[in-house]
Amino acid sequence: MSKPQQSELLGLSLQQLTEITDRFGEPPYRARQLFDGLYRQRWLELEQFSPLPGDFRQRLREAGFSVGLPRTEGRFVSKDGTVRYLLAFADGQSVETVWMPEGDGGEAGDGSASGDEELESKTWSRATICVSSQVGCAVDCKFCMTALLGLARNLTAGEIVGQILAVLRDQQADVERDRLNLVFMGQGEPFLNYDNFMAAVRLLVEGVGFAESRMTVSTSGIVPRIADFGAEPVRPKLAVSLNASNEALRTQIMPITKKWTIEKLIASLRNFPLRNRERLTFEYVLLHGVNDDDAHAREVVELIRGLRAKVNLIALNPGPDILFATPEPERVLAFQRILTAAGIPAFLRRPRGRDIYAACGQLKHTTELVRL
Ligand code: SAH
Ligand code: SF4
Repeated sequence: MSKPQQSELLGLSLQQLTEITDRFGEPPYRARQLFDGLYRQRWLELEQFSPLPGDFRQRLREAGFSVGLPRTEGRFVSKDGTVRYLLAFADGQSVETVWMPEGDGGEAGDGSASGDEELESKTWSRATICVSSQVGCAVDCKFCMTALLGLARNLTAGEIVGQILAVLRDQQADVERDRLNLVFMGQGEPFLNYDNFMAAVRLLVEGVGFAESRMTVSTSGIVPRIADFGAEPVRPKLAVSLNASNEALRTQIMPITKKWTIEKLIASLRNFPLRNRERLTFEYVLLHGVNDDDAHAREVVELIRGLRAKVNLIALNPGPDILFATPEPERVLAFQRILTAAGIPAFLRRPRGRDIYAACGQLKHTTELVRL
């Protein structure tokens, strides 16, 4: 019965845990206790699973089972309150996960003494966690620092969920009490690790307690997976990194366009079954002098006409080895005005944690902090 190699429990579904309890001759409710300890209580060690009898915990350990939460190797705190975590897995590979608190009027972490010591250090009323789906990324977008890492490997479902649990523990956040959102917009292309990503989503909903409406996944446009995703009974909201207004330009900055053209991408979105009141999100990274002209904005309007969608505009977050520049704020506003005048809701995404390399496109295991 006992497997000699190390196996992590995190990432297993209730059914998979039931198969384990069966193998150990334990009743099915033990699987539910394991599931609850892993995902709801966020326990770190088998010793903490107090509802389980000591001898069962012992036998699990002897068979090589462990919880499998990632180790925190680095923790960088921005002046805007954003925290970038460097989280490492059993094989030594690591990814980044970002915590973005929203202050209650004032910004968190400004160092001022508030006199509210009894409220501890909880200065946020809601927060977003940005999660990685792969170690590095193979998609090779020319403006993204993660692309420079290449792809090391996919993350397992347990490693995807583990990032969230590690951050929730560190922030002492409570999924039921606090207003928390998840965005799958860290390192990697979630739709190139589709099965593990979706297994993680189901664990987050059934185990950790996140509502699907509080999660958003962003894809660079893996067309066949967009159709699969639309058919999922439980799924996050969908965001698509458009980033260019025509085929030639997109191919230049996102070479994946050669495989899945803008036309195919937009066609897949026209067929995407949106739920009641749901909207698609397009992300558009503005690169100075490349894709940020009025004419480009007008092309975007034509491209997405008729789709129930909004656009998030992101002025490029700079980084070493990124050969593009950030547009002036006036250019970003002019681009936004053209979209809104055409009836397309368009929002400016505020850069978070640029000083610690935590902002969109900056996740590249940077451990030395360089002033931008
Ligand atoms: N791989 C997925 C999800 C992670 S990237 C995707 O590409 O959609 C999350 C977002 O960051 C994407 O919309 C991407 O276009 C954007 N991004 C990448 N590099 C950036 C940079 N240097 N500055 C600003 N946004 C960037
Ligand atoms: Fe990968 Fe997204 Fe970066 Fe493109 S923007 S290289 S898909 S992480």
